[in-house]
Amino acid sequence: MKALLATVLIALPGLAWGQRVLEFSHDFAFSAHEVNSLAARAYGARLRTLALAGKLDRDPALKARLQRIVPRLLRAAIYERPTAAKLQWEIHSCSECDENASAMAGGKLLVSAEMVRRLRFSDAELAYLLAHEMAHVLAQHTREFVSVARYFVDNGLHRGYRDIRNELSWSFPVMLRMHPVYVQQELEADYIGFVLAAQAGFRPKAMISLIKKLGDGGETVLATHPSEAQRLAQARGMLETARRLYACALKGPAPRRHTRVNRPEVLQCRSCPTISTTSFPSSRESCINSGGATPSSATWSSSTTR
Ligand SMILES: [Zn+2]
Repeated sequence: MKALLATVLIALPGLAWGQRVLEFSHDFAFSAHEVNSLAARAYGARLRTLALAGKLDRDPALKARLQRIVPRLLRAAIYERPTAAKLQWEIHSCSECDENASAMAGGKLLVSAEMVRRLRFSDAELAYLLAHEMAHVLAQHTREFVSVARYFVDNGLHRGYRDIRNELSWSFPVMLRMHPVYVQQELEADYIGFVLAAQAGFRPKAMISLIKKLGDGGETVLATHPSEAQRLAQARGMLETARRLYACALKGPAPRRHTRVNRPEVLQCRSCPTISTTSFPSSRESCINSGGATPSSATWSSSTTR
């Protein structure tokens, strides 16, 4: 897939703050504005339904954990992908809901309070779960998915985003053809999420324990996630790199990127009081200048979970 994230293989041990680990390619058929706007409307409708049923943000302990974890992940995300600062990020928890954890285009996340409790996630495991969801957003997987789907639906190259997305919601044959794309995007989200959470200072071994806790989620023809074995193999292959990123993170957060992007001062996150890009310490000079030994800049099983 041309539009897949181009992962940069990291030459060890030369990691140091100052270079990004991730590169993102742009090869989409539809505008981000259209994709994100539609997702924001769907997310808003979902939140209203949950709120009316008394199922939205009901767990104050989880809310406090999200408030601690999400700003750290956002900083890593903005470091790797400065345009992430322009997104209207939101995260909520739901109770007795169908979702386990999900991400919608433009930064709209939802996580199940029951799943977090049932699987007894540590903060680090929860961070890797959320980083995986944020990765779907950063890599614009929804936009990519529908762009690719144009080749699998009738007259797809001449149809609009909303039209194709609607067909994807009911067409079993098309979804079957798109299955490899789903699986690839999940592995990619694992990869990106692993980098983000390690850069945010969360213990990399938590990614391994998270995958084990999530398990396969059932092997079906339309299972959207790769097998536990696939995920574990990829994660174990990344462990050394993640450890280096984590070691650097312990010395301070990633440096703020100088970018021409119109970065908002405050990122929206309804379940967090305020997430400000100015609230993070900006010094990571020890890692920026160290170069060598320290690294540098360098499921989710429900149908709605990405
Ligand atoms: Zn996913």
